[in-house]
Amino acid sequence: MSATTISDRPTRLSTDIDFERDGKQVSIIHMAWSRNASAYGEIQIPIACIKNGSGKTMLYTAGTHGDEYEGQVALLNLIRELEPERVRGRVIIVPAANYPAAINGSRLSPLDNGNLNRAHPGDPDGGPTAQIAYYIGQTLVPMADAFHDLHAGGTSLDYLPFVSSHLSGNAALDERQLAAAKAFAPPMVVIGKMSDDRLAQRAAHKRGVIAFGGEFGGRGAVTISGVKLVETGIRNMLHFLGILPDWQPPRPKAPTRLMQIAGRAYYVHAPANGLFEPFVELGEEVKAGQKASRLHFVEDPLRPPLEPAFKIAGTVVCKRAQGRCERGDCLAHLATPYEA
Ligand code: CA
Repeated sequence: MSATTISDRPTRLSTDIDFERDGKQVSIIHMAWSRNASAYGEIQIPIACIKNGSGKTMLYTAGTHGDEYEGQVALLNLIRELEPERVRGRVIIVPAANYPAAINGSRLSPLDNGNLNRAHPGDPDGGPTAQIAYYIGQTLVPMADAFHDLHAGGTSLDYLPFVSSHLSGNAALDERQLAAAKAFAPPMVVIGKMSDDRLAQRAAHKRGVIAFGGEFGGRGAVTISGVKLVETGIRNMLHFLGILPDWQPPRPKAPTRLMQIAGRAYYVHAPANGLFEPFVELGEEVKAGQKASRLHFVEDPLRPPLEPAFKIAGTVVCKRAQGRCERGDCLAHLATPYEA
């Protein structure tokens, strides 16, 4: 058997940023993209490095899903506003990680239908999305002490805002990760107990790096409250990590609730194609067996609607944003109080 694994192969992406240099550098990650309309064309993914002396390194990405915007807005503002003099250590920022998806305003890349948060560890010889995943996991994550990949619900979903984290299987790492997630001071920290090795956070855990996701809005829109929450939370977490020593975290409006998502039972999926009439709002507490929605059949008014129900009790943290649904679409999902 060959000893060569994917992780031994070099990335094909490059940047002229010197990650060891102090100051603010804003440049591009280059990825060759040869096509009919542009033989020697490339995809140019913006990246910034803001460094001052020694200290921890924080890596931020947004636009992993192109139609999730609060993180993209907050990171674009951060690149302009964060002066290196205030930093102790290093902040690496990729505000539109799946750049082709971000400028297309779509969850997936229009180039290869790639989902950057299902693409890890990636492939240096794969399509654009696999190549970006590989660069993040192999080049950027190893420089970081902590990695925050900022999400929202995108076009199809709406969310209550929260910071998310997955259990890593390493108790010491999980403890450090939870402390930093709480320092962000979100309304909720949601611990994911379901495992998917293709997630960006998993690429960090494999390297012993604490990692966070989070949902800060949805519906393909930009919420003022979501942007504010992310911008304040970023500074709170940088302060906690010692990277932004002069920041004074504001007093949180309410204590952070520690929640979990621990299986398929937390989700309600559409049993048929139809018109989705929701019965619950985000933030509602529901009982097991409570009806989540009604599914109407527009073509047949006398056909009794289906009424999919919640399988367990919990807090509604996500619901479908659009009226039409297809069989298998997520209509809503819950979180419940965290159990160790
Ligand atoms: Ca997302």
